[in-house]
Amino acid sequence: MRDFEAYMKEALPETVALLKELCLIPAPSHHEERRAEFCKNWLEAAGAEGVYIDEALNVIYPMNCEGKDDIVVFCAHTDTVFPEETPLLWHEDEENYYCPAVGDDTCCLVQMMMAVKYILSRGIQPKTGVLFVCNSCEEGLGNLKGTRQIFKDFAGRIKCFYTFDGGYRKVTNRCVGSHRYRVECRTEGGHSFGAFGNRNAITALAALIADLTTVEVPQKEGCKTTYNVGTISGGTSVNTIAQYAEMLCEYRSDDAACLADMKRQFEERFATAIAAGKGDFTVTLVGERPCGGEIDRALHAQMTARVQELSQKHSGLPCHANSGSTDCNIPMSLGVPAVCVGTHLGGGAHTREERVQKDSVLPGLLIVTELILDYFD
Ligand SMILES: [Zn+2]
Repeated sequence: MRDFEAYMKEALPETVALLKELCLIPAPSHHEERRAEFCKNWLEAAGAEGVYIDEALNVIYPMNCEGKDDIVVFCAHTDTVFPEETPLLWHEDEENYYCPAVGDDTCCLVQMMMAVKYILSRGIQPKTGVLFVCNSCEEGLGNLKGTRQIFKDFAGRIKCFYTFDGGYRKVTNRCVGSHRYRVECRTEGGHSFGAFGNRNAITALAALIADLTTVEVPQKEGCKTTYNVGTISGGTSVNTIAQYAEMLCEYRSDDAACLADMKRQFEERFATAIAAGKGDFTVTLVGERPCGGEIDRALHAQMTARVQELSQKHSGLPCHANSGSTDCNIPMSLGVPAVCVGTHLGGGAHTREERVQKDSVLPGLLIVTELILDYFD
């Protein structure tokens, strides 16, 4: 007899306390050490055996995985978009919990950890190999390092993949691929008056940016393609011809052919800027998230439908399928069916005002737990 509903109702205060505790541990991408250590210790205290931290700072808890090549992965990411020095202030009102990264992805992580604790407390055994992962480097320039590591270490042995991330009104089952670049421009520069006429790194970079706005986004039925210049910096002073300027830019698409078209258009413009000689450009690919490849469509549709069913059952709200850039990009590009499951309601993701709706935590716990229990006896 499965008693997870009663268990989770009772465990709600414990869940919130854990959420608060984890939120206060900084975990910028590539620096998840402290959160990883915390999660490992917590899982061990809950009775998990064989938990380890891999070289990418993933916390891995394999259950029954030895010799198995039909492993199911459940994960939630530990990293946040906030640098170490961001003040992590927790507060709450009648409706919400507030803290940077409270929703993305700490709430999801905590809900998965509580589901694991329930399973351990009841001694329930998996039907197949199950891998629970508190994974690293999902955000931004983390470039999905954690998930890449899982698929390296368990190559060819993973049958399907679930990640818990975002709100429960949606399930992300299509991947948005992206390429991200750092473009640096260098010139000799000089005094703005005395060396007037020398090449200026800022104006050269600005000319390239202006040229990028002429990119034509491919129009394809049912697909979305975008681009962005996200940051720019450089220069020395108002009376110095800039010697250095740099920017970060990206394009995204949920279609592999459109992504390739954007790559061609961006590379053309980089080449034009280099040839113009108004600055010495260095273009570095700093992030690459692949689009989806060929997968078992029937299994993938089944996974999506089950998530939608459980989401609706426990939250009372419809759950729509959409596309996004998540940890699923890696399995999907390798042909492993993957979905990203939302587990709460809230808003302000990636801002300091991020919030999670209090009354959404329990429905999320139930969605996560029942989904995992599908793979247990
Ligand atoms: Zn996330």
